Amino acid sequence: MITVKNYIKPDTLEAAYELNQKRANRIIGGMMWLRMGKGNILTAIDLSGLLSGEITETDTDFHIGSMCTLRQLETHPGLAKSFGSVWKECTRHIVGVQFRNGATVGGSIFGRYGFSDILTAFLVFDTKVKLYKKGIIPLSEFITMDRDRDILEEIIVAKDGRRAVYLSERRSQTDFPVLTCAASCYEGIVLVSIGARPMRATVTETTLDEMEHIADAFDYGSNMRGSREYRKHLAEVLLCRAKKALEEGNV
Ligand SMILES: Cc1cc2nc3c(=O)[nH]c(=O)nc-3n(C[C@H](O)[C@H](O)[C@H](O)COP(=O)(O)OP(=O)(O)OC[C@H]3O[C@@H](n4cnc5c(N)ncnc54)[C@H](O)[C@@H]3O)c2cc1C
Repeated sequence: MITVKNYIKPDTLEAAYELNQKRANRIIGGMMWLRMGKGNILTAIDLSGLLSGEITETDTDFHIGSMCTLRQLETHPGLAKSFGSVWKECTRHIVGVQFRNGATVGGSIFGRYGFSDILTAFLVFDTKVKLYKKGIIPLSEFITMDRDRDILEEIIVAKDGRRAVYLSERRSQTDFPVLTCAASCYEGIVLVSIGARPMRATVTETTLDEMEHIADAFDYGSNMRGSREYRKHLAEVLLCRAKKALEEGNV
């Protein structure tokens, strides 16, 4: 259980950032993950009055506000029209609808969890994150950075027309994944991302012809959900399926 002593809804992002520099304070998103933890939070910083919970579309990009929920990501008609079923596929196994109505995209991306279906999916797009202090940087760079106490404002996905496929393997329907896999194809370049290895997702570039053999480019490890060998085998299988889906346009 966690205990929260104070709760603040700051008026500006600068005030929120200053408060967040103190280790005992925490930004809260949907609080679905935080509340599973133990310990004390001196001040919970609620950014719902400052950060958008909307998905907006320009001619070139989608802007997904940090406070946007996983359920919005799953059901947004514009995202589905532009990119296909990938958003539905990467969210639908996460606990249940009620949960996905609470958990935020911001908390999911900023958390950079090893098991994250969400991170795996976003990595195969031209995705950038907008951080309050560091500005706009590619998601692939953000996942390699040391954790700090910045604020994630929004996620920006380029509307370049690419389609992507998302697959995961789970021991039971809503459990954490044993392995996650996403792949996209755009102008002959295939981006493959594999997560829950059980390490956090990373992305690599390949071609449709080489895609089946790219499982070797990732490291795998063992935990209670599966061994290193089993994960590697799963990666090979999911990559074959992803390749077939991309070739057949079944995305
Ligand atoms: C039981 C359970 C099962 C789950 N299963 C899965 C699963 O199968 N697949 C999957 O992908 N995910 C899964 N998740 C994770 C879930 O989808 C969310 O990613 C997670 O709950 C975090 O989102 P949140 O809105 O609850 O964030 P919070 O719990 O509120 O915050 C998480 C962290 O992010 C920080 N944070 C939040 N918003 C911001 C921001 N805007 N800027 C900076 N920092 C911020 C917080 O300070 C905190 O450190 C599961 C979570 C739980 C509790």
